[in-house]
Amino acid sequence: MAIATIDPTDGRVLKTYDPLTDADIETSLARAATAFETLRRTTFEQRATWLRAAADILDAERDEIARVMTVEMGKTLTAAKAETAKCATACRFYAKHAEQFLADEPIDPALVKARQAYVRYQPLGPVLAVMPWNFPLWQAMRFAAPALMAGNVGLLKHASNVPQTALFMEDLFRRAGFPEGSFQTLLIGSAQVEAVLKDKRVTAATLTGSEGAGKAVAAIAGRELKKTVLELGGSDPFVVMPSADVQKAAEVAVTARCQNNGQSCIAAKRFIVHTDVYDAFATAFVERMAALVVGDPMDEKTDVGPLATEQGRRDVEELVADAKAHGATVLTGGQAPDQPGWWYPPTVVAGLTKDMRMYDEEVFGPVAGLYRVNSYEEAIEVANSTDFGLGSNAWTTDPAEQERFVTDLEAGAVFVNGMVTSYPELPFGGIKTSGYGRELSHQGIREFCNVKTIWMA
Ligand code: NDP
Repeated sequence: MAIATIDPTDGRVLKTYDPLTDADIETSLARAATAFETLRRTTFEQRATWLRAAADILDAERDEIARVMTVEMGKTLTAAKAETAKCATACRFYAKHAEQFLADEPIDPALVKARQAYVRYQPLGPVLAVMPWNFPLWQAMRFAAPALMAGNVGLLKHASNVPQTALFMEDLFRRAGFPEGSFQTLLIGSAQVEAVLKDKRVTAATLTGSEGAGKAVAAIAGRELKKTVLELGGSDPFVVMPSADVQKAAEVAVTARCQNNGQSCIAAKRFIVHTDVYDAFATAFVERMAALVVGDPMDEKTDVGPLATEQGRRDVEELVADAKAHGATVLTGGQAPDQPGWWYPPTVVAGLTKDMRMYDEEVFGPVAGLYRVNSYEEAIEVANSTDFGLGSNAWTTDPAEQERFVTDLEAGAVFVNGMVTSYPELPFGGIKTSGYGRELSHQGIREFCNVKTIWMA
């Protein structure tokens, strides 16, 4: 994939970039190693000052960077502004809490025959972050803010279709005052990742993206015995039980499915509805999906913009076509318009069965699958029937049933009577093929730390 900004509303190539040469990469890695020697000796207070400065820049330049994101990958300008604000919040969150998250942890010396014992969290070094285009600022910031606060150095290999957002990230941290080289963007294609990850100066890697990319990077890191955190795809279930507020569930379901033009790993993708409330939910949900405004992502009135890439739109079309060919019913949408750009309408597909690809594959676009179930047990069976395990949503007002969902859903998160959302305060990540490790919260900042045991006689 060429490194380029391509407008997804009409497919025009707006700007292309040459990938870094081997010599350029060597310069960047040498700079990263030098920067680590400086950064790791700075105080939390100093790093917090720089990260707060980054948050202030994000606030001041919110509209400009939001426009860049919208041009590069088609999310609505409203969503892009909200994403920028969320990044500023995450910076301030880690600026405030990192020192406490990484404070020395004393251990009772009497238990370990010592005069003094404790655990200290120390940074590992330069960490490679392979990031996707769907939340181009947030996904990278979710890694960068805790990494920099811990004293690690960041090397960002961003998705090839968001180079301008990627370059903004490097510039942001430089202007915020971090030592030269603390956070660098490497404009490289995915084939160049292996050489970077193999380099001794790179200590670990984090990847957000598809299962294929995750496996490729984890395999290289495994051979090199380097730590990885993987945040991969999801096909989150959204279960609606008879006691739920069905109208509210249908309203939230639309946002949960169509946020970010349907391209979110934690979007609800499979709507599993108890037969007692199925018809009421389906009617309200389809009505609301059909009413969404699809159009220019720069326009405030638009709910859904284009998909980010031509290949992404092709993948969605193929999954829907496969479901139709195997007997599924399309209740709304289901047909890409005949016009330039990567448009796809909000779509609801019912009657999905196990022989259809949509049953267990992720649909990365505004396409919802509807399932009718007859019991709690059947709901859980369908919910857990994919290989994914990222987020999950359960709608029920019955406390005993809520507790059962919390226990039984195979996922990194269960949201009850609300949609899965990420907050800096909550750990974020999955199980099964959705990946491993956690981002955000105190768990996230410790992923790339040496948990050093100190024992003194
Ligand atoms: P990818 O997983 O291919 O891309 C994500 C990142 O990984 C990009 O930076 C990409 O670089 C890089 N990458 C891809 N392959 C490799 C590799 N073999 N070695 C090293 N780095 C690699 O996502 P796509 O854009 O192709 O989307 C495909 C599907 O992935 C989507 O339909 C969706 O299902 C899932 N996805 C999930 C996301 C999530 O949030 N969990 C985000 C994006 C996609 P480059 O751009 O240069 O190829």
